[in-house]
Amino acid sequence: MKIISINAGSSSLKFTLFEMDNEEVIATGVFERIGIENSKYTIKYNGEKIEQEIELKDHTDAVKVLLEKLIDLSIINSLEEIKGVGHRLVHGKDKYSSSVLITDEVVQDLEAFKEFAPLHNPANVLGIKAFKEALGDVPMVGVFDTAFHQTMSEEAYLYAVPYKWYKEYGVRKYGFHGTSHRYMALKMKEILGKENFKMISCHIGNGGSICAIKDMKCVDTSMGFTPLAGIMMGTRSGDVDPSIIPYVMEKEGKNASEVVDDLNKVSGLLGLSEYSSDMRDILGQIEENNPKALLAKNKYVRRVVDYIAQYYVLLGGVDVICFTAGVGENSVPVRREICEALEVLGVKIDNELNNKRGQEVKLSTNESKIDVYVIPTDEELMIARDTMNIIQNR
Ligand code: ADP
Repeated sequence: MKIISINAGSSSLKFTLFEMDNEEVIATGVFERIGIENSKYTIKYNGEKIEQEIELKDHTDAVKVLLEKLIDLSIINSLEEIKGVGHRLVHGKDKYSSSVLITDEVVQDLEAFKEFAPLHNPANVLGIKAFKEALGDVPMVGVFDTAFHQTMSEEAYLYAVPYKWYKEYGVRKYGFHGTSHRYMALKMKEILGKENFKMISCHIGNGGSICAIKDMKCVDTSMGFTPLAGIMMGTRSGDVDPSIIPYVMEKEGKNASEVVDDLNKVSGLLGLSEYSSDMRDILGQIEENNPKALLAKNKYVRRVVDYIAQYYVLLGGVDVICFTAGVGENSVPVRREICEALEVLGVKIDNELNNKRGQEVKLSTNESKIDVYVIPTDEELMIARDTMNIIQNR
């Protein structure tokens, strides 16, 4: 059974085509600069990579070209082979606590919730409409970034602000990266052979969030009302004192959304280092004795450790900590330093094993009081699995 996972952004569309009988990736690729000049696509399959510039006026164009290419390249023989389309959807507010079959109501909700994810929800709708146009009645499933976090208690998701802001305007913590954290929990269930355990999942990439999980359910997470909250990220500040906003507005003659834009786009590693948002560049600069790069990396590590410590106490101890995403899967020194800071909790890792990149590995030694793992995330596979399950159980 072939299922395609889609991640539609405002000017891009990423896809992964799976053969779900063995969960094998048949083809993957990205359509970029949709609706902008110099649009292009890249398709990887069978060890080959095809890249081509092509005019893509909108998402419908991109999906049309994608499906044509899948047939031209003999990746599939006919469109009928695609039994389902899974869409990564960003914001389901508190209405969606699991993946769903996409109906008109789901599309209307995505549109209604767009002020909560102004860049993402409209793009997700474009992706859904483009596939509906191309594939007609092929079932589609929506997998929300926010869904996994719906098990948080009121105490966890409410901010200490006037209750009316929550009741009337929906101001609360929603959390993001839920599909990735859920994948981590499922992987750990597979590895440990049980469901009852306490874990802290660290999805640290360009964006990043930490999630406290008990018995497969989210108890708390670091991102909040938007993905700006929580740990320090590539270009995002993470948590700051909100009084900074009017103060900087005054100093720089900006309005509130311009300052929030600065917190989203020129803060984090980039802001502190004044060099780059990319951890590889930061580590390279540290080799060159750049003090601001060192400061940026140290602050980054500290913010991750702050959240792990907080969730350790919240969960009343932890069985496993796992790292994933760009930095979590690849950055040997960042993982090492986070784990060194956690020695007080009895964490001990094997530095030889920590030298591995991009693969599943248990880092902790037998003496460690907490198991530490690296688990490469696979949100696309989660989307394809949910899609298959929902289609089969309709
Ligand atoms: P996104 O949140 O955009 O999906 P990724 O999960 O791909 O981002 O993470 C991107 C981050 O991962 C970048 O900061 C990059 O520096 C980091 N990264 C990727 N490979 C390495 C590596 N080998 N060493 C250190 N950092 C890495």
